[in-house]
Amino acid sequence: MINFQYTRASDVADAVRQIAADPAAKFIAGGTNLIDLMKEDVERPLRLIDISRLPLKTVEETADGGLRIGALVPNSDLAYHPLIAQRYPMLASAILAGASAQLRNMASTGGNLLQRTRCSYFYDLATPCNKREPGSGCSAIAGLNRMHAILGTSEACIATHPSDMCVALAALDAKVHVVGPAGGRVIAFSDFHRLPENTPQRDTNLQPNEIVTAVELPARGFAANWTYLKIRDRLSYAFALVSVAAALELEGDNTIKEARLALGSVAQKPWRDPSAEAALRGQAVNQATFTRAADLLLHDAKGFEHNAFKIDLARRAIVRALTQAAAGTPQSQSDKKIR
Ligand SMILES: Cc1cc2nc3c(=O)[nH]c(=O)nc-3n(C[C@H](O)[C@H](O)[C@H](O)COP(=O)(O)OP(=O)(O)OC[C@H]3O[C@@H](n4cnc5c(N)ncnc54)[C@H](O)[C@@H]3O)c2cc1C
Ligand code: SF4
Repeated sequence: MINFQYTRASDVADAVRQIAADPAAKFIAGGTNLIDLMKEDVERPLRLIDISRLPLKTVEETADGGLRIGALVPNSDLAYHPLIAQRYPMLASAILAGASAQLRNMASTGGNLLQRTRCSYFYDLATPCNKREPGSGCSAIAGLNRMHAILGTSEACIATHPSDMCVALAALDAKVHVVGPAGGRVIAFSDFHRLPENTPQRDTNLQPNEIVTAVELPARGFAANWTYLKIRDRLSYAFALVSVAAALELEGDNTIKEARLALGSVAQKPWRDPSAEAALRGQAVNQATFTRAADLLLHDAKGFEHNAFKIDLARRAIVRALTQAAAGTPQSQSDKKIR
């Protein structure tokens, strides 16, 4: 039994003051990830700072036509919020593809961004893991790595980020608002999560004394042509092997005006590549266009002993997701002929 203190933050400034004063403290929001990690002895905070009562639970319209989502908006409330459902259905779909209804009721927006990898060695204290204990080694590289990364890996770590919501947020070009002792700053979503390189213990560029206060969505929601496709071992209550957020804006029926493509569960951050999206812009809606984009997005993919199959799985999932997005049938097979 490891003792820890529990305090509540009265407002954002108090939360920042408390975390800055105690390097052994951690924020707790819904607790759906942190408590599990504490039970397994992976995380050992000496103090929990409860932020769950802070007034960060609203979804508000921004002056430029986007939305600002408070960091404590529960995943369920966000997925079913009318403005999200109407204007950002890809985000709603991604959230609802994750976890279970009970977990989504507890899980917060900020906590989802900061959830840790599901690499089984990370949870197993009997095995070396550079993310848990820097310098100890990576058990997954020569171990059971079926669920692991195929992109952005390093010799230190091949873990994935398991979130569904983050894949849609990456494709939508969201921004993360954070506050620290020096004030507030805004982090582009693409800069929020980190690749492992030689510091796999750091998942994000959030500083230890900062709190996430909100996620901002730009006005463009791709509400007509989108898909969130999650490929997993079971139809529910399973993390993705590969997921795809695909969003298109079409000119007429057959030309792509704007495109977004993000892959989930293939790297330690949602994976985007500007060259893949550029290869879609201005092109005709067809299989050849989609296959070219998939090849570009997976250009640097490298498999390990048990997960090389993910490369081809991802390629086919991208083509299918883009096909469904183009046809406006996000949750089912397209019945429209793609030439
Ligand atoms: C069985 C199971 C299945 C799951 N399946 C999926 C799935 O399929 N897809 C998916 O995407 N997710 C899945 N999840 C993960 C779940 O979505 C996350 O656990 C949840 O989003 C975390 O949110 P939370 O508020 O509970 O975070 P907490 O557990 O409270 O916190 C997580 C981390 O974030 C930090 N933190 C929280 N809020 C803030 C903040 N505002 N500022 C700074 N730091 C903060 C905490 O200090 C902690 O380190 C699953 C979880 C479980 C247990
Ligand atoms: S892949 Fe990363 S999290 Fe998993 S054992 Fe290796 S270092 Fe640890």
